Amino acid sequence: MSGWKGLLTEYAEWFHLEGVREVVTLQEGNTPLLFAQRLSERVSANVYLKFEGLNPSGSFKDRGMTMAITKAKANGASTVICGSTGNTSAAAAAYAAKAGMECVVLVPEGKIAVGKLAQAMIYGARVLQIRGNFDQALDLARELTQHLPVTIVNSINPDRIEGQKTGAFEIVDVLGEAPDILAIPVGNAGNITAYWRGFTQYHVGGRAARLPKMWGFQAAGAAPIVLGHPVANPETIATAIRIGNPASWVPALEVIHESLGDIRAVTDAEILDAYQFLARQESVFCEPASAASVAGILKFGVPEGSTVVCVLTGNGLKDPDTAVSLSGMPPVVDASLDALMKTLS
Ligand SMILES: *Cc1c(COP(=O)(O)O)cnc(C)c1O
Repeated sequence: MSGWKGLLTEYAEWFHLEGVREVVTLQEGNTPLLFAQRLSERVSANVYLKFEGLNPSGSFKDRGMTMAITKAKANGASTVICGSTGNTSAAAAAYAAKAGMECVVLVPEGKIAVGKLAQAMIYGARVLQIRGNFDQALDLARELTQHLPVTIVNSINPDRIEGQKTGAFEIVDVLGEAPDILAIPVGNAGNITAYWRGFTQYHVGGRAARLPKMWGFQAAGAAPIVLGHPVANPETIATAIRIGNPASWVPALEVIHESLGDIRAVTDAEILDAYQFLARQESVFCEPASAASVAGILKFGVPEGSTVVCVLTGNGLKDPDTAVSLSGMPPVVDASLDALMKTLS
C-alpha cells in the first residue's frame, strides 16, 4: 500500500532535514484545489479554491507544524508554546500530542472560535486565556522562552514558514504552472511569505515558468499593513486575522514588491458575503478569515480570463457561532404534518 505520506516525506528534496531521524506527521497537505464554477463566472476568470480546511487539524497551520514539531523534537525539546488566534494552538496541540511532547497555548480571552478552543483542549494542551489580545499573547509566549525551557512554534519560528511553502508546490503540481494571481488572507503575514518562497523555489528549480502576483487581504478593522502602522485594538469577525502588529510585516512587504502584488482591506460585511457565497454557491464551508481572499477578488476584480487561486485557510466547522448567527436559529414547529405544511408552503 502506498498513500500520501505527509509533506516532509513527499517534498523531502525541498527541505533541510539534516539531523532529523523521526518525522512527526499526520499526513497533512495534499488538499483539494477545487475549480469554482460560479465564482469564476462572476469575476470572468478561472478561479480555484485551495481548501486548507481539509488538513488534519482543519487549517494550513498543519503544514508548518509538521516541520516545527519535527525539528523541535530532533533538537531535544520536550515542551512547545504558542500564542494563538486559535488555529496555531489547534495544530500545535495535535502535533505535540503525536510527538509525545507538552504544549502550552496562550489565547486571547473570549476572542477565539469555540471549535479551535475545543481542539487545543481535547488534544491535551495546557490552555491559558490571556486578558489581552493576540499580539500580547505572542509577546508573552516569546518572553517565556527566555525563562523556561520551551520552544516557540509561532510563525516567528522559521520552520513554520518552511513547511507552509508546500501549499504553493501543490498548486503548481496540479495546475502545471503558477497561477496569475494568488489571493490569500493576511494576519501575521507568515503564510503569504511562505507561499512566495514556495513559488520562487519552484520557479528557480524549473517546475514553474512564471511567478504569480501575490494579493493579500486584511480585515478592515485589523489592517496594519494596509494602513502602514500597527493597530492597537484590532477588531474583526475574522478572528484568525485579528492581528494588529504582524510578525512577518517586513517579509510581506518584500513579497508584494517582488511579485508586483498588493495588500488591501476588506470589510467584515464583505467577508461574510464571501463566506456565505462560498458555502451556497461552491459548497465550501470555510471559516470567516479564509473568505477574505474571495471577498478581495469580488471587491477589486481580477483581469479577464486570468487564472486565480484563492487560499481558503481554515475549516468553517471551527467557528459554528458565526455560521449560526449569520443564518439565525432555525424556526421551531409543532411535530405535526399540518404545522409542517403550513410552514413550508
Ligand atoms: C493563521 C490564519 C490566517 C493568517 O495567516 P498568517 O500567516 O498569520 O498571515 C488566516 N486564516 C486562518 C484560518 C488562519 O488560521
